[in-house]
Amino acid sequence: MPVGSTATLISTHQLAPEELMKAAVVRDFRQPLVIEHRPVPTPGHGEIVVRIEASGLCHTDIHAAHGDWPIKPTLPFVPGHEGVGIVTRVGGGVTRVKEGDRVALPWLGYACGTCEFCVSGWETLCAKQVNTGYGMDGAYSEYAKAFAAYVGIVPAGLDPFDAAPLACAGVTTYKAVKASGARSSDLVAVFGVGGLGHLAVQYAKIAGATVVAVDLTEDKLAMAKQLGADYTVNAAREDPVQAIQKLGGADAAIALAVSPRAFEQAFASLRRKGTLVFVALPADNSVRIPIFETVLNGITIVGSIVGTRKDLDEVYELHARGRTHVIRETRPLETVNQSIQDVLDGTVTGRIVFDLRDTAVAEPLERQLTAAGA
Ligand SMILES: [Zn+2]
Ligand SMILES: [Zn+2]
Repeated sequence: MPVGSTATLISTHQLAPEELMKAAVVRDFRQPLVIEHRPVPTPGHGEIVVRIEASGLCHTDIHAAHGDWPIKPTLPFVPGHEGVGIVTRVGGGVTRVKEGDRVALPWLGYACGTCEFCVSGWETLCAKQVNTGYGMDGAYSEYAKAFAAYVGIVPAGLDPFDAAPLACAGVTTYKAVKASGARSSDLVAVFGVGGLGHLAVQYAKIAGATVVAVDLTEDKLAMAKQLGADYTVNAAREDPVQAIQKLGGADAAIALAVSPRAFEQAFASLRRKGTLVFVALPADNSVRIPIFETVLNGITIVGSIVGTRKDLDEVYELHARGRTHVIRETRPLETVNQSIQDVLDGTVTGRIVFDLRDTAVAEPLERQLTAAGA
């Protein structure tokens, strides 16, 4: 399918070109996103404006665009919570970052900073949190506004196209491996090795564990092997529960595939005293877990949602030291609808990252239309 064939470009005539930016907008749930010209935001107190360079496509963006979850975003909105770019403007009271700094706009766009969760290192559980690309406009856009206190600081020298997926896929799996309690003598099973899973495999290896990767496609399993997985199981061809139990059972299983069945298999693959970490959020919001086996086998089930700013710092530090590899594919923002379809079809091996560099807002509309293939 030609680039941009599923997206249309709408112009805003009232503003000068330098005041306009290109953004992919959700106007209706379950309708294709629309590429629009919108006004470049201005920062309020405590806020910054970021010129986005790279913006990752996370499965959560698809759930947001489809209105899959009980609490839905307010339409219209711009998705995207793996945005990385350069600070171009700072609002009053901002001291944490300055113009020219490279920052990441993660899922946790804002938290209150004073509740019991915020003050105890669990800001990701703050009830007053606002999520980037959900409760506030996100990073499928040339510019995005953010709360300075909650952006990630991208270390110098880090590739923005690596930093973008690490802002969600990275920090989420890093935290999930922490939540799994993985130790060097453990067998860790990673269910689903796409955008998240390929990073989970690496963090479990960094923790010293033996890793078994489970997926339905050979390409992804081959990638997992290259990234350090000790064992791979193709769940389309063999029963992952049997395969993992044959290895002695998993001390920890991390459920990253958006399929309740994979969660159930992950549970059944555990050994006694094992830990199951729920991470993926299937639209079909329930699993069947047997109570008897959970009690008698002393199983722990834990939910893990993204990670804190500190976790993200650690993720970037590991990457800066060359300990992790990000598998990603760069595409123009105009491919957004096809890209979403490709993720849904499971045909994308790593992470899709939209390239928002050098699409100057002052560029004539005709040229943009040509570039978009419209
Ligand atoms: Zn995400
Ligand atoms: Zn709070």
